[in-house]
Amino acid sequence: MTALYRLVYTSRSLVGGDEAAQERTVARIVDASRRNNARAGVTGALLFSTGSFAQVLEGPRAAVEATFERIQRDPRHSDVGVLQCEPVAARGFPNWSMAFVGGSPRGRELWGEFARRTAFDIGRMEADRLFAALLQIVEGEDAPRATARPALAASAG
Ligand code: FAD
Repeated sequence: MTALYRLVYTSRSLVGGDEAAQERTVARIVDASRRNNARAGVTGALLFSTGSFAQVLEGPRAAVEATFERIQRDPRHSDVGVLQCEPVAARGFPNWSMAFVGGSPRGRELWGEFARRTAFDIGRMEADRLFAALLQIVEGEDAPRATARPALAASAG
């Protein structure tokens, strides 16, 4: 069986324009992510909040690395800082080719609580705490109203 890897990073958003324009750009990023990740067997979650991104990528090591190399070159963000890149026993987001966090009021509220506890310094957050917060938010958003949709074939697990 192929070993599973998890990569967690944060970055600074360079997405320009007003709030609506930023939302449109991030929606395009999420669409491309879901399309590509479903093909590559990559799952995870993406947070966009207060000018920052945080993302969890998980899957076979080669697929995670290839995806992350593309992401790192993307001019829509900068200051990409890896918090974690290591083998894991299981996926945290097995049903999400890319869950988008923070699209719902509840998600924003939960993220706000977490960000307050960590003094809003996304670059200094610990990988495990960030991962746990994203998981909690995605699970909360998953029922009854999801902003992310399950999109990964069962074979990718
Ligand atoms: P495309 O179909 O080329 O792009 C999708 C949309 O984005 C199109 O509308 C296109 O016009 C627009 N676009 C593409 N590149 C740019 C650009 N440089 N500047 C402005 N608009 C552009 N990709 C993944 O595959 N998986 C991920 O998990 C993932 N996560 C990301 C997280 C962040 C924070 C960012 C910034 C990007 C992420 N991406 C991810 C996107 C990745 O960087 C590449 O843009 C994408 O993988 C290219 O794939 P594509 O050719 O299929 O997308």
